[in-house]
Amino acid sequence: MARVGCGDCAGCSACCRGMGDSILLDPLDVYRLAALRDKSFEECLAEGVELGVAEGLVLPHLKMIGAEEQCAYLTPQGRCSIHPLRPGFCRLFPLGRYYENGTFRYFLQVKECKKPNRTKVKVGKWIDTPDLAKNRAFVTCWHDFLEDCRELVGQGDDALGRNLNLYLLRRFYLAPYEAGRDFYGQFYERMDLVRKELGMDA
Ligand code: SF4
Ligand code: SF4
Repeated sequence: MARVGCGDCAGCSACCRGMGDSILLDPLDVYRLAALRDKSFEECLAEGVELGVAEGLVLPHLKMIGAEEQCAYLTPQGRCSIHPLRPGFCRLFPLGRYYENGTFRYFLQVKECKKPNRTKVKVGKWIDTPDLAKNRAFVTCWHDFLEDCRELVGQGDDALGRNLNLYLLRRFYLAPYEAGRDFYGQFYERMDLVRKELGMDA
């Protein structure tokens, strides 16, 4: 349980504004945003996603636009236009994840949500994601993989860093996912191939 319940955010969209490049998108987010909306990753880039550098890796994040620096998917009425398919970061907020020893724990960022008198909600219900055990395994796998990639990029070889970043974008984001297939199966097929091609399991 965590004190995150905010009455369906009624009248508030504070955390959909001014978030800079912090709402990073993982492959599951792109499956939701692109495949499940019958769009390509390039079309997502044209509407509400942009690429940025996060600790040495080129990764997509939600784009903030306009004078109020609001998420491109926020309606003029202050509601999320892609709510059922919103990214994992949006599902999690104001919770965060603390990674340790190949797993993670949730923690509450106590000052982030602006609503007073928040109620206690089960974390599983809050993040509103089916197959929680599979999701947890995926989140851990992706986090650990990015850490391995950051180690490679951190070796200081610029050409290697550029090539690795391009390769990751192509393999996990630009290559379309199939909407009619379970995401996790598709993700692990790609992950197995990538780890093999990068010699990570040698
Ligand atoms: S700050 Fe809290 S209440 Fe406001 S939109 Fe975000 S989660 Fe909802
Ligand atoms: S995707 Fe939706 S919930 Fe997430 S920041 Fe944008 S408008 Fe807010």
